[in-house]
Amino acid sequence: MSRPDLFDEIIECLKMQALDSPDTCLSPEVRREFYADVAKPAPPPAHSRRTMSPGCAPQRFSAPPRRSPADSAPHVCSAAPDSAPPAGGKDPRNMSWRELAAAVASCRGCKLCRTRTNTVFGDGNVRAELMFLGEAPGADEDLQGLPFVGRAGELLTRMIGAMQFNRAEVFIANTVKCRPPNNRNPEPDETEACRPFIMRQIELIRPKVIVMLGAVPLRLLFPEVRAGITRIRGSWMDYHGIKVMPTFHPAYLLRNPAAKADVWKDLQLVMAVFGKKHVPGRRA
Ligand code: SF4
Repeated sequence: MSRPDLFDEIIECLKMQALDSPDTCLSPEVRREFYADVAKPAPPPAHSRRTMSPGCAPQRFSAPPRRSPADSAPHVCSAAPDSAPPAGGKDPRNMSWRELAAAVASCRGCKLCRTRTNTVFGDGNVRAELMFLGEAPGADEDLQGLPFVGRAGELLTRMIGAMQFNRAEVFIANTVKCRPPNNRNPEPDETEACRPFIMRQIELIRPKVIVMLGAVPLRLLFPEVRAGITRIRGSWMDYHGIKVMPTFHPAYLLRNPAAKADVWKDLQLVMAVFGKKHVPGRRA
């Protein structure tokens, strides 16, 4: 076997191991290359797995779907949990995690595909009980193919730490998977085109709580809600049995540090769901 052939085979083995071993830890660089590469035709896995792990956290995907009572939720989503599939190809509603990652990596479903460097699928534990849903990738995320890795990402990491979680335990995703030019908000046709992907991610992860960061995910999950994020933040919402806490986006907090106190109140409500209490001196 020639040297290049040998390396190719080793790389294929490592990829399959990453799919089959939930505890495999991958560096961001390897993970980025892996996601880019799963878009290419690959040999079928030795045995069927429903999901792959993009992170290092323990996997609990076989657990039955969690349904939280909408006891304290003033806003209940009436919108359909997902929308029509993009034209052509398999319906994301029927995709496995791996198929979804491949579909996103090769997606040309809206005009954002023309200006992106990398798609940003999401990162963390695919069986997380806590999910963070942001707006759209920025410049750093576009370059690295990972969500929340710039300054706002550093702040989000601190917020997650203050909540007594770490990034490997939660799942972090954005409403759209490609960076809008000049960091503008995604346009309605772009969020609509990308909607089936995030809807399927939520369906597969089935978190107990989603923290919605900013107005864009609010519009996506609750299109019928007219109030803005400033008014609605801090109030529990219900998305098909999943508790949702709207709060400000970390990028907004970088521009308006005074709003951190409000966000911290919102995050403590989320912590209480998980039986966690505020530890004095620990906050974002
Ligand atoms: S933003 Fe979503 S729909 Fe648009 S090209 Fe990227 S992955 Fe496809």
